[in-house]
Amino acid sequence: MNICQGNQLRVDLTTGKISRELTPENGIGARTWNSMTLLRELEPGTDPLGPDNILCLATGPLAGSQMIATCRFIASARSPLTGFLGDSGARGFFAPELRWSGHDQLVFTGASDRWVYLFIENDRVEIRDAGHLVGRDITETTEALQEELADPDLQVAAIGPAGENLVRYSIISCNLARAAGRTGMGAVMGSKKLKAIAVRGDQPVRPVDPDRFAGACRQLQTDLENHREFGPRRLYGTTMIMDRLAEMGVLPAYHYRSAEFKELDQVNGEALRREHVVKAKSCYNCNVHCSRYNLTRYSEGEGPEYEAQAAYTVKCGNPDLELAVGVSNTVNRLGLDCITAGEVIAWLMECRHEGVISDSDVDGIDLSWGSADALLRLPEMIARREGIGDLLADGVNGRGGPHRRSEGSGTLLGRSQGHQGVRADERRQLPRWRSLPRRTDDRTHRGRGTGAEAGG
Ligand code: SF4
Repeated sequence: MNICQGNQLRVDLTTGKISRELTPENGIGARTWNSMTLLRELEPGTDPLGPDNILCLATGPLAGSQMIATCRFIASARSPLTGFLGDSGARGFFAPELRWSGHDQLVFTGASDRWVYLFIENDRVEIRDAGHLVGRDITETTEALQEELADPDLQVAAIGPAGENLVRYSIISCNLARAAGRTGMGAVMGSKKLKAIAVRGDQPVRPVDPDRFAGACRQLQTDLENHREFGPRRLYGTTMIMDRLAEMGVLPAYHYRSAEFKELDQVNGEALRREHVVKAKSCYNCNVHCSRYNLTRYSEGEGPEYEAQAAYTVKCGNPDLELAVGVSNTVNRLGLDCITAGEVIAWLMECRHEGVISDSDVDGIDLSWGSADALLRLPEMIARREGIGDLLADGVNGRGGPHRRSEGSGTLLGRSQGHQGVRADERRQLPRWRSLPRRTDDRTHRGRGTGAEAGG
C-alpha cells in the first residue's frame, strides 16, 4: 500500500521559498517523524517564539486511507510553554486532505514579516496574504477562506487571536473544534505570522492489495462496534468519564480541593446530552461519531469533551453547565488550549479563596468559585492580552506565575514540567500507585501528572 511516502513540503516563511523533498522516513508515525526532524535541525537554545524554531505538521502513515479514523495530524516544535519538545495532535478532516494533496509532512522555518496563509492544492502551493484574517477567530477564519475560495470542503487549520498574540497555550485548530491543543503550537504558528493552512487534494490513498486491506478495515470496524465502550462513547464521547472519575474519587473539583461536586448530575455527560446536544458529529471515516454539536444561550459549537466540560464546571466550582459549554465554545474560537485556560482560571479562583490574591489584583473581576464574570471575561482578556490577561497569557510559569505573585500561589498550582495536567486528581490515586513496583530512578516520576504539585 502506498502509505506515507515521506513527501515533505518545506516552507521558508522568511524568504518565501517552497521546496519538496522525498525523505527516507516513509511509513513511520507522525510524532516520531516530527521529533526526528526537530532533533536533526533545531539548534539548542532556540527561542520557541523566534524565527529559528521549526514547526512540523505530519500525518500518520494510514491517514486518509479506508481504515477507520485515520484522521490525525501531529504538530511539533519547541514548546513556548515548557521549553521542551512540544507536540499535539488533532483529528477531523485536515490530515486526510493533506495526504490527498500528496504531502505527508509540512515543515515551516523562518518567519514572515506580514500575516500570510499557505494554500495547497495538490502540486500548487502558494503563500498568500492573510491581512484580512487578522483578529478573526478560528471559525470566522475557516469560513472566510472557504467562502473566498468558493470551496465549502476546503480543509483549514488555523490559529485564533490567541495564537496571533503569542499566548503560550494557544492551539492550531481544524474543523472548528479539532485542536492540536497542547504545548502552545498555535503560538509557534503565530510567531511565524502564519494564520492558516488551507488544503485541497484529489490523490486518494491506494492500497497495494485493496481486497486484503478492505478486509482488515472491515474486521477492525466489527471489532470496534462489538466493543463494550462503543455504545456509551457514541452517545457521550469522553464526557461519560466524569461520573466514573467521581466514582473513583478523583474529580478535580474546586481546583483539586475536593473529589466531590454536589451538583454533578447537573454538569455530567448525561446532562450535556439532555440539555444542549443537538447533533452528533464525526471525524473522517469514523463510525463512533463521538463528538456532539451544542446550542446554548451564549453560543453554539462543537463539544465540549471531558477536559473542557470538567475545567469550566467542577474544577472552577461552577454548577451552571450552559455557562461552561458557552465558555468552551468561546475558548475554542479564540484558539486557547481549554485545559491550560481552565487551569489558569481555576488556580486564580483558588488563590482568591485562600486570600493569596484579591479581585482588585485582576482588574476587579469577581473570582469567587463558579463566577460567570471570571469565566466569561478571562478567556477573551487572555487571548487578546488585555489587562491581567497579558500576564496570564504567558501561563503559570511566565510573568503572571507564582514568582510574580506570592509564595502561596505557587503551592496551589496543578502542573508538571511547566505543563498543566489533565483529567483527574492523581494524588488521590497515590495508594494505588504505592502498591506498584517502584523504579530505582524515581526522578522521572517526581512531579508528574495532574495536581502533583497542587497543595489545595
Ligand atoms: S469521531 Fe471521536 S472517536 Fe472518531 S476519530 Fe473523531 S474523536 Fe476519535
